[in-house]
Amino acid sequence: MGFENGFIDFERIEPATRPVSERTGDFREIIGTLSDDEVKIQAGRCMDCGIPFCMHKCPLHNAMPDYNQFTCEAEFKKAYNVLASTNNFPEITGRICPAPCEEACTLGIHRKSVGIRSIEKKVVEYAFEHGFVKAVSTTARSFKKVAVIGSGPAGLSCAQQLTRLGHKVTVIEKNDKIGGLLRYGIPDFKLPKDVLDRRLAQMELEGVTFITSTMVGNKEKLEKGIRNDATHVVTAEELLNNYDAVVLAPGSETPRDLSLPGRDLKGIHFALEFLIAQNRENNGDGDNPISVRDKKVVVIGGGETASDCIGVAIRKGAASVTQIDYHDELPQQVDILKVWPDLRRIKRTSTSQQEGCTRIFSTNTTAFNGKDKISSVSTVKITWQPGHKFTAVEGSEEVVDADIVLIAMGYAHPSIPLIEEFKLETDERGNIRADFSGELAFATSNAKVFAAGDGRRGQSLVVHAIAEGRKCAVSVDRFLNSR
Ligand SMILES: Cc1cc2nc3c(=O)[nH]c(=O)nc-3n(C[C@H](O)[C@H](O)[C@H](O)COP(=O)(O)OP(=O)(O)OC[C@H]3O[C@@H](n4cnc5c(N)ncnc54)[C@H](O)[C@@H]3O)c2cc1C
Ligand code: SF4
Repeated sequence: MGFENGFIDFERIEPATRPVSERTGDFREIIGTLSDDEVKIQAGRCMDCGIPFCMHKCPLHNAMPDYNQFTCEAEFKKAYNVLASTNNFPEITGRICPAPCEEACTLGIHRKSVGIRSIEKKVVEYAFEHGFVKAVSTTARSFKKVAVIGSGPAGLSCAQQLTRLGHKVTVIEKNDKIGGLLRYGIPDFKLPKDVLDRRLAQMELEGVTFITSTMVGNKEKLEKGIRNDATHVVTAEELLNNYDAVVLAPGSETPRDLSLPGRDLKGIHFALEFLIAQNRENNGDGDNPISVRDKKVVVIGGGETASDCIGVAIRKGAASVTQIDYHDELPQQVDILKVWPDLRRIKRTSTSQQEGCTRIFSTNTTAFNGKDKISSVSTVKITWQPGHKFTAVEGSEEVVDADIVLIAMGYAHPSIPLIEEFKLETDERGNIRADFSGELAFATSNAKVFAAGDGRRGQSLVVHAIAEGRKCAVSVDRFLNSR
């Protein structure tokens, strides 16, 4: 169990974070990696609890006590092998997972929890640095062909698992590069793209085929605000004829809009239009056409996407950034004994919000104002009622100046053309209907077609997408072997 008194003798160590004044001048990664000595101490704080709640709360069920033990003994290769046995992409979760595991760490009840995410990142970075991450070869060849539609974390983990099980996997992506939101969406200062590229290189060596700029379904019907680089179209019929199984991992791409007076004014954009254009600019693919330099930027929404818009707008020289969130401001702390091991409902401040934005809570946007182009948004305070309903507080109307508005209110469901193409059943929210568990886990209403990730469960997290992709691969493998 770590060091005998590690949990008493040592404090939590956070990886170095670049100071705000320095990091807002570029798009390089903000959070550093623990040193070899720091990670040994951090892992040595693990108490190897009888019931590791951290494992239970991690959607991948990473075996923290096991790899923590190897890490504190400086057995990095063994630690990596344990980590890689449950997680295809620890270099990604080690950077951007919100780490529900840490809130469930038993040590966190009375001291600071073990820094599980920072250990994860260090172990995998050490493994890449020292050549432990190699293509996994398989001797079993099934000669069964699987098409995976969508190259986000769900599609990628599913493709890697199926390839390692001996199947021939082709990933088809409508955009011009592989990665889904990992490539086009999440900013480089959270997730540098070379981190993704080195993993894709491993997958190619293992035998995964990637096809880009190819969309499945009618591209004319794609909803407003969805990126599409496709120059080729593939039909469901072609896929069902040419492959033994098809996995749909299209994400949840349809953005929630704000149909308010003035919505058509110039200067109002969906968040991903701005974020993707910036990913592309950073990659040398042309300037971001949405210029925020010296402008007053208003971001509407309260989640990760909104936060990422704030960080990018600050780096691009916005005069001010204001975030309008209709959720109530949460307390700074809660009674841990009442909520552990669940996620604490506390006010969180992202690295982007630390960089300088005004946060307005319990506030609804009621109109976009301006002539031809946006100049301000009208707002009103709200109070929440049971049943996720709210009412406006009379007399609390305000106007917030805005030259650019970014709508970051989340995503409703996967885009419709793909679902229509396969004539699939959807759930009440418009996601592809498929069970999470049981004999028919991840199977859709078409026996040959499976679904995983945000397109099945609704907008979520990378760690859930990876977990879904892995579990879906097990179901697809069972299906292929039964034929
Ligand atoms: C801005 C932003 C920031 C985020 N930050 C975080 C974070 O910090 N931490 C975290 O855990 N989660 C974060 N998330 C959520 C996370 O990115 C998603 O939950 C995750 O990427 C979902 O994975 P996925 O594989 O299901 O779908 P996606 O990553 O969305 O990938 C789906 C892919 O399918 C492709 N596709 C769709 N339809 C078709 C079609 N018809 N034909 C061909 N290809 C198609 C799309 O082009 C896309 O590339 C963030 C999300 C956003 C939007
Ligand atoms: S993937 Fe997320 S929840 Fe799982 S161990 Fe890593 S940081 Fe924790």
